[in-house]
Amino acid sequence: MSLVVQKFGGSSVADAKKIFNVAGRIVDAYNEGNDVVVVVSAMGDTTDDLIAKAKEINEKPSRREMDVLLSTGEQITISLLAMALEKMGYPVISLTGWQVPMITDSNNSKARLRTIKTARIMSELDKKKIVIVAGFQGVNELNDITTLGRGGSDTTAVALAAALKADVCEIYTDVDGVYTADPRKVKNAQKLNDISYDEMLELASLGANVLHNRSVELAKKYNVNMEVKSSFEKVDGTKVKEVRLVEKMLVRGVAKDDDVARISVIGIPDEPGKAYRVFDLLAKKNISVDIILQSIGRDNTKDISFTVCMDQLEDAVNIITENLDLLGAKEVKSRSDISKVSIVGAGMASNPGVAAKMFEALFDAQINIHMISTSEIKVSVLINEKNADRAVEVIHDKFFC
Ligand code: ADP
Ligand code: ASP
Ligand code: MG
Repeated sequence: MSLVVQKFGGSSVADAKKIFNVAGRIVDAYNEGNDVVVVVSAMGDTTDDLIAKAKEINEKPSRREMDVLLSTGEQITISLLAMALEKMGYPVISLTGWQVPMITDSNNSKARLRTIKTARIMSELDKKKIVIVAGFQGVNELNDITTLGRGGSDTTAVALAAALKADVCEIYTDVDGVYTADPRKVKNAQKLNDISYDEMLELASLGANVLHNRSVELAKKYNVNMEVKSSFEKVDGTKVKEVRLVEKMLVRGVAKDDDVARISVIGIPDEPGKAYRVFDLLAKKNISVDIILQSIGRDNTKDISFTVCMDQLEDAVNIITENLDLLGAKEVKSRSDISKVSIVGAGMASNPGVAAKMFEALFDAQINIHMISTSEIKVSVLINEKNADRAVEVIHDKFFC
């Protein structure tokens, strides 16, 4: 007998028929004699609809009240799924984040899990119940509701699997595994049988939203066996695990992230301490910076460009603008019509040809590169957003076709 954690995403529970389909998958695992803990997301587009509702009332609602609102989405699903299982004659109980409880920090809308108290779940499993837990939500020390960030139900599932020492954490979604690129956008995308934690973490962080990046981070930390599978088809999925043959395939996937904006601080005096000042201002505002490019000094001035995510663009521009005199800079420019396209693969560190091949694909398609960033496991380029889907396609074709 095993303990299985299964997670079903929003599109897998979008209506009553789909909820019964999911109930069927749960029952299969339960009837095999497993203890089953299930994590679900809000139905279909519920979270987006709730955000739109909030905006009708208040353009800038507090993050605390947003979390109270958004957590209701998952609460609807747990109860409906429990009712479906009751109707099918199975013992079941639904639990919200605070009922578990899943304790988080107080960083509303981006909360991080601190501890999961497992006693309640364990006692329900002892009673042979199927336990259904609301994804994406928790409570802080004051018992205020928090959420983990968009896509966070994957992280709930992996965290529960780690805390309960589950044998496997199955992430069921609307595609049947992790592909070399988003299979909905790239027709030749190929399914991967397995992928290492590091590669999956990088892909997820660079825009492959099939898994929440923090879920992969946790899975690696606690050595959770993760598998991405289809809710609708009974076929093998993709295993996310520690080892694989690095030499087999250099590049494992191509990802795109549109949630990127570029800021350029122009005409900074070319002298020591200026980069420090720029990034210190940003750090004090808790603004995370990704790719950084500094031009070679000319006429005793230089430019520093960097990228931030869209929801930090306004704050970043404001803080730099307010400090232009301190920096001695001429002006600050920004643009948000850009995307980051990346290739990921653990074997690429020792293969310089990989980056060249990526740039060749972009050259062949006459796509201009604004910025480049490399690490042991990835190469990213910043390009115009309008070219991004085509860039993914041509880079993917270059490596996989
Ligand atoms: P869920 O609601 O189940 O959490 P998501 O929409 O968050 O589902 O994630 C599944 C989606 O991720 C797929 O529909 C697919 O379009 C997208 N996706 C992006 N990159 C990849 C990839 N490399 N492999 C598989 N799916 C991907
Ligand atoms: N419902 C949340 C969202 O749409 C969490 C999730 O689906 O994982 O982002
Ligand atoms: Mg998701």
